[in-house]
Amino acid sequence: MTVSQPSSATRSPHPLLDLPPLTAPRFAAIEDRVAALLRTRNDVLITQGEALLPLEAAIRSAVRPGSTALNVVTGPYGETFGGWLRSCGATVVDLVAPFEGAVSAERVAGALQDHPEIDFVSLVHAEAATGNTNPVAGIGAAVRAHGALLMLDAVASVAAEPLETDAWGVDLCVIGGQKAMGGPAGVSAVAVSDRAWQRITDNPQAPRRSYLSLLDWKERWTDAGRTALLPHAPAQLEMLALEACLDRIDAEGLDAVIARHRAASAATRAGARALGSLGCFVVRDQDAAPVATTLRAPAGVDARELAAAALRSNPAVPVQAAAGALAKEMLRVNHYGPAATRSTVPATLRALADGLTALGAAADASAAAQAADEAWEAALAR
Ligand SMILES: *Cc1c(COP(=O)(O)O)cnc(C)c1O
Repeated sequence: MTVSQPSSATRSPHPLLDLPPLTAPRFAAIEDRVAALLRTRNDVLITQGEALLPLEAAIRSAVRPGSTALNVVTGPYGETFGGWLRSCGATVVDLVAPFEGAVSAERVAGALQDHPEIDFVSLVHAEAATGNTNPVAGIGAAVRAHGALLMLDAVASVAAEPLETDAWGVDLCVIGGQKAMGGPAGVSAVAVSDRAWQRITDNPQAPRRSYLSLLDWKERWTDAGRTALLPHAPAQLEMLALEACLDRIDAEGLDAVIARHRAASAATRAGARALGSLGCFVVRDQDAAPVATTLRAPAGVDARELAAAALRSNPAVPVQAAAGALAKEMLRVNHYGPAATRSTVPATLRALADGLTALGAAADASAAAQAADEAWEAALAR
């Protein structure tokens, strides 16, 4: 009798599947490295899902009926936060800033003065969708002086610009790996201050025995000394990818990674302006996010058609039409992670020039290339 043997293909170890278990010390070590990246001594929880998970968890943990939240809206994520805040029973004061700029610390301080009952502030640091970035240091000082908790969505700023969680007084600092870190999208993290833990512990409505529960992780993992079993099986592949991405940031140096993103932003803005028919949506350079540049399509040109025409010229460039109400006029160029490079920016400008030309608009491709190159050099020299 012959017994069929498994083929050698099924027996040989698979690099993604046949992995040894991820140990508790290794999981804890990755958390510590994320804490260093966030410049915080607060507890850092790695959350096992895309960054919307810790963002929602932070709001549902810290906010309850009777809370008054100041929700700073400088892009689409602020709108999402407003919905969660209201569903937690909070009274929400929306502070809406035009997508062409940033919110100022003075405006935040004014809103806090007008509503002394505010006890929670939600803020997005950099907005990949609208291409702007907010001055967190000054806003953080105003929030701290008022005594409210500050939640910061730093998904699109971590590794693209300085992020000083403790120095800025950020109580709930949320990051994801998929933007400037060039890492995985399936794990994220939140740094939680002692003040935030106090608020969460006192909140009878904070999620418990739930995938959104920060308290479950605190009790079962952080306070248990991080040597016990994790509350859920660790997301093995994503954790290894996060570790590899931290290794790569360490090898390049965080300052160099940040400088590369700043240069990519400056070069994209200068190059787009030099094309002649595109405008930068974000007016002032200081308000421009290092991860993405939003451009205004020329009059009479639909941004969605321009994006499609640019992608016909070069399908590899990180250009997309904006989502939502601005889709007809706003074009988005991403320049984060592997796209924040000296070669991707000119390739993107060249594709935009081809797209503009195809649609009958003016485009000076060589002026754009030269302006981008000079801006890149100047940004690195700063
Ligand atoms: C990218 C990003 C996130 C993550 O959300 P996705 O919609 O999954 O990309 C959250 N907040 C900000 C500010 C982001 O830029």
